[in-house]
This record gives sequence, structure tokens and C-alpha cells, in this order.
Amino acid sequence: MTSNYLFSFGRYQRPFLYPLQTAHGQWSVREGLIIQLIDAAGKNYWGEIAPIPWFGSESLAQAIEFCTSLGDAVCWPVVVPDQLPATQFAFSSAIPYGYEPLEPISADVSWSFLLPAGEKVLEAWQQPWELGYRTFKWKIGVAEIAKELVIFDRLLTALPQGAKLRLDANAGLSYIDACTCLSSLPTGAIEFLEQPVASLTEMLRLAERFDTPLAVDELVSNLGRLRHCYEQGWRGIYVIKPCIAGSLAALGDFIQERQLDVVLSSSLESSIGQRAVLRWSEEQEMQGRAAGMATSSWFGLEHGKPRI
Ligand SMILES: [Mg+2]
Repeated sequence: MTSNYLFSFGRYQRPFLYPLQTAHGQWSVREGLIIQLIDAAGKNYWGEIAPIPWFGSESLAQAIEFCTSLGDAVCWPVVVPDQLPATQFAFSSAIPYGYEPLEPISADVSWSFLLPAGEKVLEAWQQPWELGYRTFKWKIGVAEIAKELVIFDRLLTALPQGAKLRLDANAGLSYIDACTCLSSLPTGAIEFLEQPVASLTEMLRLAERFDTPLAVDELVSNLGRLRHCYEQGWRGIYVIKPCIAGSLAALGDFIQERQLDVVLSSSLESSIGQRAVLRWSEEQEMQGRAAGMATSSWFGLEHGKPRI
């Protein structure tokens, strides 16, 4: 059964406190769209389009073009083309999960804390540790790997017992550097290494060669790519960014049917997208890995809520 909704959308911009440094370069402002649907009874539903074009999603301009084409009323479910996965997420999540956008996010969620790249990391874990974070993620592949491994050693020594560490190279290492990194990691030192190299063939080779658990991230940025990796034989961890992965219902079915080992990850979306992901994930039977979504500290408090 379809229903009619009034439809509108608005654009937001949220500057990071300091630019996010990744293997793809610097990122200083998060831009996205908030969509709003109103049913016949006047009830509001919200959804977020938070694209990351360099991660395989559509651009903001493409999302705006699609939203503009809808006019000011829609029939739900709204059919969104597969080329617009971040837009698919927003429309698939708005009605089931986009109600009451100000309800507090559950305190039971276990979060991973994203640490800054480089030497800053040696100071940056302490405050979140005191706030109760126990899982940390550190970006590598930003500087020379040998230098990063020296910092990593100091970080391992500094972190208290009970801390879990994830490394994320954003596909920025060569195969040789990935081997250097994995050979130097003491057994059990980290929870997993996330996407050291770009190629799936090389990821499969590394998984065969080393005991440290490996996760794919860039390779599974949407449902089509996720399916491809699974079919090619990837049986390690899958880091999934639901906000750019496409339809939430289809994503949930794929994960459940194959019992994938999943880590939920942020697309640096606002609380609207984040709340939808968490409400959805509560309905899924996920294994107990901390979600990589504790990123609000990357934004200034004055930008804590999206402008609608
Ligand atoms: Mg990653």
C-alpha cells in the first residue's frame, strides 16, 4: 500500500573542528541534506542524505537534483535509483526510523572513538578513555608507514589494559607496506586492520597470509559492492556505512541471510542519520562489535544540530 506525504528538503553545512585527514586528502566541511515527509495526519518524519562521493556515493549535487525532481509531494515508498545510495538510505529510513528526531540516543550502544592521524594520537585517546570509551580507531597510511609504526608502538604502550585498537588505512597502503605493517603487529595487539590495500585480490591474499583480522571498508561502500566481495570469497569483517549503503531493508536482509561479521561505521552524518542507523541496528542481530559512529566530537558544539 502506498501513502502520500508532503515533501521538502534543506541543505546543511557542518565544519569540522579541524580538517579530517584521510588517505584521500583533507576534508573540512560536512555537507548534506535533511529530507522531511509529513503524512496526512500531520506527523513529521526526517531523513538524512550524507553523501561521500570519494567513497562511492552520489555527489550532493546529484542528490539535490533528485530531490528537486520530486516536487512537494511523494508517494511512499519512494523509488530511488541505485546510483544514489545515500539518497536511498534517507528515503528508506525516514518513515520507519525518522520519527522524533530529538529522542536521546541509547546509552547502551558501545562506540568506537575515532582518533586523529599522526602524533596527535598520543594525547588524543586520554579524554575519551576517561569518558568511558574502550575501542579506538587510528588512521594510518597518512605518513610513511615506518614512522607510523613507531608512533603505533608508543600508542600500544600508552593505552591502558582493556583498550581495543583498530587501525584503518583507508586503502592507502601498497601491498608491500601492508605486509610490513601486518608482520610487525604482535599477535592479538589490535582488534582488526581496516582496508590496508585497495584491491580485493590483495585483501584476500593478506587474509590468507596473516592472522590479524582484516576488515573491508572502501570495497563495500554500497550493497552492490558488498554482494560482489561476498561472492568473491571475503569472509573477514565488513565495515558498513549504512548512510551511503543504499536501502536499509535490503542491507539488513543481506547481512542477516549471510550472518556477516559487521562493524557499523559513520559517514560523519548528523544525529538524524545516526539515530536512524541505531534504531535499525537494534532490530538486526549484529555481533557485538563497537559501532564506529562516535564522531560528534569532530564538530563544534554550535553545529551540533543540523540546520533544517
Ligand atoms: Mg575505514
